[in-house]
Amino acid sequence: MTIVEEGVGQGTARAREEAPANPIGPDLITQAVRLRAPYRKGAQDHFSPTDPSPGLELTKNSHIARLVRNRKFQFLLILPNQIIFWMVIVLGVVGTVVPGLNFGTAITWYLWFCLVFVMMTVVGRAWCVMCPFGGFAEWIQRKTFWQRTQKALGLGKKLPQPIARYGFLLSVGTFLLLTWIEEFFNIAGPGAPHDTSLMVLGIVASALIFFLLFERRTFCRYFCPLTALIGSVGAMGSAAGFRTKDRQVCIDCKTKDCMRGGEEGYGCPWYTWPGSADSNLSCGLCSECYKACPSGNVGLFIQKPLTSVIAPVRRRVDVAISITLLWGLVLYQQFNATNVYGTIDDWLNTKMHFPQYPNPVDYIGLIGLFTLATLGLIWVIGRVNIRKDISLQEPKTYGTLLSAKTKYTKYLLPIAYGLIPVVGADYFARQLPKLLKHLPRLFVSIGAWFGHGNTHYSLYSDHLLSVPQIVNVQVAVIALGALASLWAMWKITNRELISVSRNALLVRVSTLASVVLCGGIAIGLYIIMHGAS
Ligand code: SF4
Ligand code: SF4
Ligand code: SF4
Repeated sequence: MTIVEEGVGQGTARAREEAPANPIGPDLITQAVRLRAPYRKGAQDHFSPTDPSPGLELTKNSHIARLVRNRKFQFLLILPNQIIFWMVIVLGVVGTVVPGLNFGTAITWYLWFCLVFVMMTVVGRAWCVMCPFGGFAEWIQRKTFWQRTQKALGLGKKLPQPIARYGFLLSVGTFLLLTWIEEFFNIAGPGAPHDTSLMVLGIVASALIFFLLFERRTFCRYFCPLTALIGSVGAMGSAAGFRTKDRQVCIDCKTKDCMRGGEEGYGCPWYTWPGSADSNLSCGLCSECYKACPSGNVGLFIQKPLTSVIAPVRRRVDVAISITLLWGLVLYQQFNATNVYGTIDDWLNTKMHFPQYPNPVDYIGLIGLFTLATLGLIWVIGRVNIRKDISLQEPKTYGTLLSAKTKYTKYLLPIAYGLIPVVGADYFARQLPKLLKHLPRLFVSIGAWFGHGNTHYSLYSDHLLSVPQIVNVQVAVIALGALASLWAMWKITNRELISVSRNALLVRVSTLASVVLCGGIAIGLYIIMHGAS
């Protein structure tokens, strides 16, 4: 019998209990589940800042409830994207070699990537609920498109604890690798359509291998190149996710069907227990817990934007470091559009006899430098502000890569979370030139199927906005992200940092200044880049 533990920090310090046997019968239980009990002592106080208002529960509406309870719900969301992405794969091989006329490359790079960022900032993990990569692999793992089956295909291995404890950092690693490959082959340029095809096929194949080796959505929780980005930036979004309605009912629950699986639903594929969820970080919105809970104690909640950035008490070190790494990567992606970078990269390539951009040394070196500079800035803020007599016992975080009981992480966790909106805005702004310059090509590529589209069509060269207008939009997006970050940082600083700092004004000024600095750097680079794709 495989043991599944809840939460990324499966080696949590918090007491655990093995869930009791499911009274439904052993045939319906494919895995035993280790669960972390909710914060029993003072649970009300502990979760109240993170619990959405009961008034914002969407399944109170009977139509929405019926839709979410329907087992075909997620299948029908995934299906259109599945069709489109297999078209991308096929058209990359058999379609035109002109990237702007190939529907596969056009929809992937001129529209899809930008839409994913809009979805994550507005909703959260909206993309994950309809994602064809995880969806396809899950269909095969479950041997069905939508039904509740009992035996999964594959080895059903559990991810070893020493690896799982790295949490989002694993995903950042795969994202860095994928980004380097994409830049090296100029896939998103977009370059040759068959490269896009190979890349998408590679993601589908990797997902499938992981789904067949490991249980549930281990791939989505730990290894998908997008999961750290969607999870952290998605914390800005308004979907609180599927949450418990009454935590006491979960504490007293004897079956834990939401984690084990019940007659109507699978156990949570993402290892997220609604009974202890306090953010939308790792809820893939699949609705299985809603279907499985025999007590009807799960609802689909919406929340005010930024709630999952500001409110969580149990912040994670792997998430905080991931945010700084993602920030380092997006700064690199801005810097690599400048002439200075071109000179450095050419020089290194000549010295190392490396064929072309991007040289792996400057790629890793610069991302590392930007990340370390951000971590260093946070260290300085902590060093300047922290009270000498500070206790390292509270607040605790659970199941993290590093212990939260250091003076550094007392500042790292809140400040890194506070930077999420400006990081998210920067990723979104970086995608805008392709959308705003080349989206009309998507329509030409559709016409080209029917023999009515080529590179001489005026629409092919039309831009939605001029280059100076694109820069203005990018600056506006960063300014909005910075404003959101300022608001989040203000709230977080007041709640978490003033009590550990020697001077309330100084700590407020320093954390807010860090946001202004980050926003200012991003804006400066966009002005220098001058709308480069
Ligand atoms: S984590 Fe990745 S593979 Fe899984 S659903 Fe989300 S985007 Fe798709
Ligand atoms: S969500 Fe439902 S099944 Fe899960 S612990 Fe709570 S009451 Fe039990
Ligand atoms: S089972 Fe529930 S908590 Fe788990 S990912 Fe799906 S919707 Fe989210």
